[in-house]
Amino acid sequence: MEHTNRPHVPPTLLPRKEGIRLKRSLLIKPMMNEYYPTVTHGDGIYLFDNTGKKYIDGCSGAVTASIGHTNPEIIAAMYEQANKVSFVYRSQFTSEPAEELANKLNSLLNAKEDYWSFFVNSGSEAVETAMKIAIQHWQEKGNYRKNKILSRWISYHGITIGALSLSGHVKRRERFVHILEDYPVVSPVYCYRCPFNQKYPDCQLSCANDLETAIERAGADQIAAFIAEPIVGAAGGAITPPDGYYQKIREICDRHHILFIADEVMTGLGRTGKMFGLDHWGVRADIMALGKGVSAGYTPIAAALASEKVMEPILNGSNSIMSGHTLSANPQSTATALAVINFIEKSKLVENVQENGEYLLQKLQALAANSQIIGDVRGKGLMIGIEFVSDVKTKQPFSSGVQITKKIVDQARDKGLLVYPASAGKEGAQGDAVIISPPFIITKQEIDDLVAVLKETIEAVQNELVG
Ligand code: PMP
Repeated sequence: MEHTNRPHVPPTLLPRKEGIRLKRSLLIKPMMNEYYPTVTHGDGIYLFDNTGKKYIDGCSGAVTASIGHTNPEIIAAMYEQANKVSFVYRSQFTSEPAEELANKLNSLLNAKEDYWSFFVNSGSEAVETAMKIAIQHWQEKGNYRKNKILSRWISYHGITIGALSLSGHVKRRERFVHILEDYPVVSPVYCYRCPFNQKYPDCQLSCANDLETAIERAGADQIAAFIAEPIVGAAGGAITPPDGYYQKIREICDRHHILFIADEVMTGLGRTGKMFGLDHWGVRADIMALGKGVSAGYTPIAAALASEKVMEPILNGSNSIMSGHTLSANPQSTATALAVINFIEKSKLVENVQENGEYLLQKLQALAANSQIIGDVRGKGLMIGIEFVSDVKTKQPFSSGVQITKKIVDQARDKGLLVYPASAGKEGAQGDAVIISPPFIITKQEIDDLVAVLKETIEAVQNELVG
């Protein structure tokens, strides 16, 4: 059943049994005046609503449900753990799943030094924790001046005040800007709209060199760390740096004694066709934030990881980090995350992401070649961004009144396909890109189905806008 005639009231405003008064929905939603279908269940890459309508989850929700919905192995593991114990407080007990998960994440990194894990409940908290670990690292070494954390424009690191301070996302900052730190000072890495009007490789990575300029301006003695998303997600739509960028970033951070934090909340755990986003460039960060894919949405859990080098002065000093949440490292969430990671490994899903990601990318590039409104297709693995423009030659964005991303997202949903809205464009706040990021289990046939619906959607929007 298609939702061509959307109801004017949300479906949750259902008549009460007696049929007289309407029951108000008291759930605060992202946009209160919008229509949201009510989900009933999921199955693999599909979701179903209470009208029986079926959706292809073409973006794993918010680039999260990486192994698809209602996986029986994960359900069994969750049930098994719930039968043992779901919650213990971390200052009273440790637990086998929490210990095992920390060791598993370390082994996945396969680095020269060990990485320690601290578990939290959301990507934003993972970023907040990463910030605190960076600052504490320098304090334990007797340096109380290194408190700033540099970040880039066109970035998203989370919604809590610290993580929002780091986020170069105009729209999400603007309401709270007076209580935020001005951390985004570094140029974005955005080859399609190079902020320096240059071309790779002649540019010699001006965007990476801009970190050095920013460090010199602020003073390395004041800076604890630099944070970046390996591939920019929500703020830009899978904006992917050119080769050499992260090698240069690593080198600049080392030379100025600044820690490098990788925000792998979206890219981590296989999404880009490697276990971690930075693996594409053979670079290791000192601290990492993981989220979304850690439990593939089966339970809220995220993590901040810190290298032995970062942890050493902390372990020898205060002996732990000054952070934590009631639900940190609870057995239920950590057991779930372990089951998800084991499933990814056992089913060789990262290989599937690599292979089917290539297939998806080619299909979307072919779509772009015949489109008057697709300006750029980019990304790695199953994290592909599509940027829309009103003129592909001049790269002119649509005016904000057009709400091109919303048009695409809404019309795709009406046709039974979910895609994720991202903001890109010149000011990084125009919202003219979407991310296609289906679950890792997607087959080539299902990719064909996804692309067919997307093509139909984009053509319909194109006809409406440019005729
Ligand atoms: N960092 C990145 C790169 C993200 O994509 C997100 C979520 N979109 C966050 C941090 C914040 O994560 P959460 O929404 O779980 O707080």
